[in-house]
Amino acid sequence: MDTTTLPSRNVAVLGATGSIGSSALDLIARHPGRLRATVLAAGSNVAALVALCRSHRPEHAVIADQACFTQLRDALAEAGLATQAHAGSAALDALVAGDACDTVVAAIVGAAGLSSTLAAAGAGKRLLLANKESLVLAGALVIAVAEASGAQIVPIDSEHNAVFQCLGSRQAGAQVRRIVLTASGGPFRGRSRASLETVTVAQAVAHPKWSMGPKISVDSATLMNKGLELIEAAHLFNVGRERLDVLVHPQSLVHSLVEFIDGSTLAQLGLPDMRTALSVGLGWPQRIDSGVAGLDLLRHGTLEFEAPDLDAFPCLRLAWSALESGGAAPAVLNAANETAVSAFLQGKIGFLAIPALVEDALAAHAHAPAGSLEALLAADGLARHFSQGWIHRTTTGQARSA
Ligand code: NAD
Ligand code: MG
Repeated sequence: MDTTTLPSRNVAVLGATGSIGSSALDLIARHPGRLRATVLAAGSNVAALVALCRSHRPEHAVIADQACFTQLRDALAEAGLATQAHAGSAALDALVAGDACDTVVAAIVGAAGLSSTLAAAGAGKRLLLANKESLVLAGALVIAVAEASGAQIVPIDSEHNAVFQCLGSRQAGAQVRRIVLTASGGPFRGRSRASLETVTVAQAVAHPKWSMGPKISVDSATLMNKGLELIEAAHLFNVGRERLDVLVHPQSLVHSLVEFIDGSTLAQLGLPDMRTALSVGLGWPQRIDSGVAGLDLLRHGTLEFEAPDLDAFPCLRLAWSALESGGAAPAVLNAANETAVSAFLQGKIGFLAIPALVEDALAAHAHAPAGSLEALLAADGLARHFSQGWIHRTTTGQARSA
């Protein structure tokens, strides 16, 4: 494959041990002359991070958990690697903003990714943005910081990457009538709300089309993922709620659609493999080999589309209304959802408690101040505190009645 026209990139992969991180590293390894992983960062899994350092030989490795620093440093030395060890989010932000990288794959899960996303945006890096929660929490700020520094954001979420490809940029402008995000419908598509009462964690994370981390898999099962993506799209493409729509498409081959004022609709299609979106991020405006096969529509057969069921999946309705409310509502929605999903994954609450908790958190805190990063982080903290209390009351209530 001829990559001579692809500019050289020094890439920081944040969330390197995760699903997106491993797709990004696969892609980087396919273009050894041009792409280098220079910074690898992960949450707390030192062994997995060191294994990646053995294969990719980065200059720096960062573990979020400060308590793991010595273990990381010693393991890198034992492996005979020259990779420098770092720990904590301040160290990560400094590396992201510094000379070690020109390109950042932001693939940490949750609001924990906001700080490094902002660091990359502020330092004018090419920002391959997978961490949708940072846009839901503080999207206006992330976009403003990127615009001020000249950072180029390429959306990596497959739907937003599809829209980016259809537009050729992040500018929707007045010629776009509507952006339609497609949704697979998740593992529970077609089920009634009542039948979801007893679903298990294993059923919820078994996504029919995509292989992803546990949090986004649960978000896909509740349809909160599509709700977060509506808010993400509003920021990335500067469009209001009235120009956004959701269409369920179970085959997950049409990744999203853009309708223009002349009646044309452009869509991006491809196999459900995140390496396509990541290769757009690394190569844009060029196309580079991603290792993903082309689409054989004859073999795949019929493409189906249906409206989302907001009764069975109230998280999507809650996200629509948080987008309409604006202010702190999206931050509260995101924080309550992260806390609820974590409790669900730990077996503490049931599946239907996720929307119930998010709805109560929004009712309690959606009107918190939202005029600055500090205010948004305070709203995030309030919503997490509220949600922990809600979960505690629910679990102790269950214990009493058992
Ligand atoms: P994952 O759970 O597989 O990986 C998460 C990564 O984040 C891990 O490397 C983990 O170590 C790291 N991490 C967690 N907490 C951290 C912290 N405090 N500091 C530093 N690192 C931390 O998740 P994923 O599926 O790869 O998703 C990552 C992000 O990309 C999410 O925001 C998700 O919504 C988004 N996304 C993922 C997909 C997908 O196909 N997996 C698609 C679209 C968007
Ligand atoms: Mg998506």
